[in-house]
Amino acid sequence: MEKVLAAVRVGPGKTEIREFPMPEILEDSALMKMEVAGICGTDVKLYQTPPSKDTPVIMGHENIGYIAKAGREFTRRKGFKEGDLVFVEHYVMCGKCEWCHLGQYRHCENTDWRFNPDAIRYGYTSAEKPPHLWGGFAQYIYLPWNAVLHHVPKGVTPELAGLVTPMAQGLSQTVICKQAGASLIIVTGTTKDGARMEVAKTLGADHLIDVQKEDPLARIMEVTDGKGVDVVLDCTAGAGTFPVLLGVDALKRKGGTIVIQGEMAEFPNFPIAKVTVKFITIKSARGHSYKACELALQQLASHRFPLEKVTTHTFGLRDVDLAIRSVGGKGVPDVIHASLMPWK
Ligand SMILES: [Zn+2]
Ligand SMILES: [Zn+2]
Repeated sequence: MEKVLAAVRVGPGKTEIREFPMPEILEDSALMKMEVAGICGTDVKLYQTPPSKDTPVIMGHENIGYIAKAGREFTRRKGFKEGDLVFVEHYVMCGKCEWCHLGQYRHCENTDWRFNPDAIRYGYTSAEKPPHLWGGFAQYIYLPWNAVLHHVPKGVTPELAGLVTPMAQGLSQTVICKQAGASLIIVTGTTKDGARMEVAKTLGADHLIDVQKEDPLARIMEVTDGKGVDVVLDCTAGAGTFPVLLGVDALKRKGGTIVIQGEMAEFPNFPIAKVTVKFITIKSARGHSYKACELALQQLASHRFPLEKVTTHTFGLRDVDLAIRSVGGKGVPDVIHASLMPWK
């Protein structure tokens, strides 16, 4: 019987290469041959502190590949056939609930691992659940009828397409702000973000601030003539409450917007008075919509920005551990975005 190799997280910070049986592809399912799995800050966090310690999980939730095999019903219903290059969202929806009907399947119970122990989400679901291939750090992944797929446009390589989800993260926000028409873009970071800051500049940032070398608030006020900024995007991971506090202070006098995505359990001394008096709108970022993925693919296909500079490193299946540690700043230095290429 044909086997599929996968890198499995078997405990906190521990990976093993394991073999799984090649799944049987029925009428309404498909098999994807993995080309690129993006590795992001979420992987760093989930690798060190898995939500359930004893469950083996094939990580990898930002997945690009070719449809290797597709059942007839799968192709008829979904419009994807063998040979298509696709980006697979990590949500596997139920297709029946209110959220799914609204197109907001990111909120669907069927994929909400925090709430539902049987949830299916690529990179999160137990490798013990048949047909096992629920993560991108593997040679193949299994696609049930309710997986959400996008065609990768012509002229976009699998490696470039690997940036679809990272387009929602940190550095790529420079491009998003530019595209949305921001007249001034300020990017803050720490000293170890040197390589990222350089790329931010190439992507269109007007000012770069190393918060460890200078007072970020003073600099922001200086470049905005004391007025502050309209919008703050917190794209940090593991930086505590500081970025939000800085954001609240850096926003303009009235009516600014801050997008937050921190997962700290507590926020002592949250400056609620300042938020209220400044009439600040707080928005939370949770995953991505179908439209956001399509926009990201179009952005990549336009080749308007040198986004290929964001992917700095690629790793093979046997180097998953090193790859995740490197993204977390503890392996290979100066990684901005790392891609896992399971066949490398
Ligand atoms: Zn991610
Ligand atoms: Zn649903």
